[in-house]
Amino acid sequence: MPRCILRSLLKLQICAGHVQLRISYGIIHPGILQNVGFIHVRQIIQFLVIPFPMNKTNIEFCDFTWNPIVGCRHGCSYCWARGQHDRFYYPEKFEMPRFYPNRLKEPYQRKKPAKIFVCSMADIFSPGVKDEWIHRVLKVVADNPQHTFQFLSKKPARYHDFDFPLGNTWIGTSVDYARHADRIDQLVSCGCKFISFVLVEPLLSSMEGIDFSGVDFLFVGAQTGPDAVIPSREWIYSIKHHHPIYKENIRKFL
Ligand code: SF4
Repeated sequence: MPRCILRSLLKLQICAGHVQLRISYGIIHPGILQNVGFIHVRQIIQFLVIPFPMNKTNIEFCDFTWNPIVGCRHGCSYCWARGQHDRFYYPEKFEMPRFYPNRLKEPYQRKKPAKIFVCSMADIFSPGVKDEWIHRVLKVVADNPQHTFQFLSKKPARYHDFDFPLGNTWIGTSVDYARHADRIDQLVSCGCKFISFVLVEPLLSSMEGIDFSGVDFLFVGAQTGPDAVIPSREWIYSIKHHHPIYKENIRKFL
């Protein structure tokens, strides 16, 4: 009979308003019953599973999402990524962007050409993202001309600080309120070397008078979720572009 056996118990605990499932593990030794400690099931999942690997997606303009950087400091109230992040990474802070160099290899592993959205779980040009991380991501883009890489940022002025590989790069920005229209000028002024795109999602105000004419692709979407702002038809039709692409979540309001 073994002198030591591992004992494990599942415990459901209510702690600071959170329900937590924990595994209590310990060693039973002749004459000794000792609890060694606790492991959060969440920590085990984080260790065993890589959340947000390069993955198939149903986002309209791409085939895969790729997340070598996770986290963002923009603090948008409607951020979907923050909710997903906190499910897997709590107690890590979404507002502290982190770099995962082991994910850089993922595009190399896929030989078939694909449209890859870079960092659906971050804004790769958010404050807190180091230049060195971005340079390493751009090297992957240069090394993989078979793929098209799509960058999206609410800080497109920072695009001007980097040399993007030509030929397989889309650069984009998102605009939710008309007051953020200056992002479009910052994007378009990068020149016509790249395909440019704007994501008007979620649409939260009229876009009357905003010039989208220099943008190659324009996607329009609505906020979703329980307290979502319903876009009026006037807001939707205030967007003037030669070919707006309406996402599934806004078509019912047309
Ligand atoms: S920029 Fe994107 S990732 Fe960052 S907080 Fe806003 S919605 Fe979230």
